Amino acid sequence: MQLIWLRSDLRLHDNTALSAAAARGPSVAVYLLSPQQWLEHDDAPCKVDFWLRNLGELRHALDALNIPLLIRQAARWDEAPKVLLELCQQLKIDAVHVNEEYGIHETRRDAAVAQALNARGIDFYSHLDQLLFKPGTVLTRTGTYFQVFSQFRKVCYERLRASLPMLVVPPAIQAPLDIGSDEPPSRVEGFDTPGDSLRALWPAGETEARRRLDSFVDARIDHYHSERDFPAKPGTSQLSAYLAAGVISPRQCLHAALRSNQGEFESGKVGTVTWINELLWREFYKHILVGYPRVSRHRAFRPETEALAWRDAPEDLKAWQQARTGLPIIDAAMRQLLETGWMHNRLRMVVAMFLTKNLLIDWREGERFFMRHLIDGDLAANNGGWQWSSSTGTDSAPYFRIFNPLSQSEKFDAQGVFIKHWLPELSGLNKKHLHNPTSLDELFGVVDYPLPIVHTGASRERALAAFKKLPSRQGLSSPQ
Ligand code: FAD
Repeated sequence: MQLIWLRSDLRLHDNTALSAAAARGPSVAVYLLSPQQWLEHDDAPCKVDFWLRNLGELRHALDALNIPLLIRQAARWDEAPKVLLELCQQLKIDAVHVNEEYGIHETRRDAAVAQALNARGIDFYSHLDQLLFKPGTVLTRTGTYFQVFSQFRKVCYERLRASLPMLVVPPAIQAPLDIGSDEPPSRVEGFDTPGDSLRALWPAGETEARRRLDSFVDARIDHYHSERDFPAKPGTSQLSAYLAAGVISPRQCLHAALRSNQGEFESGKVGTVTWINELLWREFYKHILVGYPRVSRHRAFRPETEALAWRDAPEDLKAWQQARTGLPIIDAAMRQLLETGWMHNRLRMVVAMFLTKNLLIDWREGERFFMRHLIDGDLAANNGGWQWSSSTGTDSAPYFRIFNPLSQSEKFDAQGVFIKHWLPELSGLNKKHLHNPTSLDELFGVVDYPLPIVHTGASRERALAAFKKLPSRQGLSSPQ
């Protein structure tokens, strides 16, 4: 008997470990509930709820193939070896199959499980599935990890041209086993269930993920390059939560994109090429996570930036978190995050720069807050995005290129459609004041909207001064 241990791969189709298990014989699936570990990792309640809802969908799909889904508890991952060993012995399992996960804790957990199982004669197979390229396989000529995305991407293209990762065939129906499936819980202790409106934005299941992918590729991918920066437009795929939970695979995304572009990666339609680049950013940050483990220990990629004199400003941090900075584009974006569990990419960069540059607050505060609220929260992408924005990361924004939140607002939400949607209290303001209400006169009649907590120009100078004081700024792309 084979066991597939499901984690961030909650799907039936194109699931490498699941198909590998089923190809070897009768299979059973298991999922471990690890609330203590999830809390320690700052996993958001809406993300945990999304996992549980997807497990419910997957259970039905597996039932139709007579593959039982069992749910077990391992509050922290150090309990995983014991819990899985007991299950394997009880069910007389010959081999356990997993799809690789890449954080430090995940790697440690899997090594401990493999060791415990192997010691009892049970095989442990792990498969590449979450990514197109196994971290550590796209390297420079001298065998080091790339630090510059464009160089990494070039090698990815060469590899893809030489051999395109193929989709795996889903498992066939197996003979019924005398093992019943467990009902996934509807909630887990420590994680509040999000409201119905948030849940309705992110329906669970592979059918929904496929629908999103197909409708994006059919109707929007051709305009992706020109629409993706405008938060009021549905210009992006909104697939990140599904990719992060493994409800859809990067191979499925890549194949769908290539179909829309006559099989071309680098040429052909610019919308498709731009979107494939984003899938490769996802790969890049996973490579960085593995190649430079300090980033998953909350250290800066650029060690010299550890000396930066971040401000200890709890009131400013709270205003940012609670969408009351008095800068409409920032507050509208933060409301989108708080109410939907997702934020548009352009705005993730804008609010992250605002926190780390204008407020000069440590990027780790923002990283943690995002992780605690994002339905697509992913250590590698989130850390990569924060370190990019705060100029502490690899191939990141140079420290002196600080987005001005007001010009970003005027450029990417020119008509104020996004701002008015999330801050209806400002809908009566004219276009000029909407982006930047700086006086009480301008806010006349608007109840309960604060004046800006910071002056964008002066705070920009403060940030530049702080970065210039760093003992060594090599590699920080100085303008001189
Ligand atoms: P699309 O534009 O349709 O892109 C397709 C897919 O490519 C996305 O679903 C995502 O999986 C991947 N992708 C796109 N952009 C990036 C990127 N810059 N880095 C890595 N992968 C990318 N993305 C996450 O998935 N999880 C996070 O926790 C996360 N945190 C972020 C924090 C900050 C500060 C920033 C600046 C970016 C962060 N991103 C994160 C990247 C990006 O904002 C989201 O992936 C994107 O907004 C998701 O929307 P979408 O699915 O419509 O993306």
